[in-house]
Amino acid sequence: MNDSPTLRICALYPSRMNIYADRGNMLLLQHRCEARGIGFELTASEAGEHVDPDAHDLFYIGGGQDSDQIQIAGDMLETKQAALAEAAEGGKVILAVCGGYQLLGEYYELADQKVEGLGIVDLRTVREPGERLIGNVMIEFEVDGSPRVLAGFENHGGRTYLESGCPPLGRVLKGHGNNGKDGFEGVHVNNVFGTYLHGPLLPKNAWFADHLTRLALGGDIELEPLDDDLEDLAHESAIRAAGGGSGLMRLTQR
Ligand code: GLN
Repeated sequence: MNDSPTLRICALYPSRMNIYADRGNMLLLQHRCEARGIGFELTASEAGEHVDPDAHDLFYIGGGQDSDQIQIAGDMLETKQAALAEAAEGGKVILAVCGGYQLLGEYYELADQKVEGLGIVDLRTVREPGERLIGNVMIEFEVDGSPRVLAGFENHGGRTYLESGCPPLGRVLKGHGNNGKDGFEGVHVNNVFGTYLHGPLLPKNAWFADHLTRLALGGDIELEPLDDDLEDLAHESAIRAAGGGSGLMRLTQR
């Protein structure tokens, strides 16, 4: 298939921002592209490397410890902020998980320092006193008019607050979400997605991987169905782990 598209991904700081093997999300995207005869290109952009906003369809950043975030934040502002802001503005897909999600916002405030973020979505994260927000989590939001569920795992000390008018990714059904108080999880502006759900976010939610792939490839591409028996089991087991029942599973059936 010579005229089939290629999904071009740029992974930001994959050697450092990869807590809970967040890098596995890229493997799932690769697997689904290959199974469909869609080209797949994965480029890493580490410290000191500039990014070309036009050379990629999807930018990805995983989670990291506070110390990882502190180490990359300055470099990210210097070498990648302008390109990522342009990419976001131009409708490119950005997927940011946990520590990476926190860095999409204005800042991440720790006890003794304030880490400046990319400022491409209107949110702030604060490390307040209190327990870390840990556990299985399940959120709901609409895609093309139908309710869908994302299930996964969260573990964060930072609490994220969306400024008014900044839309969340979803509504928390189980778990803590952005801050354990307002019932919101993640952020979704244009094609920029931030979420605290990590580890195998996409392997547990293959439908979301396809949603991102479709958006990254221009929105109107038909993706051929795959044999998703294992992916469905992973999704169901993540929903069950978060305390969801069979009604939710039916809701999320493809
Ligand atoms: N360091 C951040 C926090 O604890 C993010 C952690 C993560 O990516 N799991 O809030």
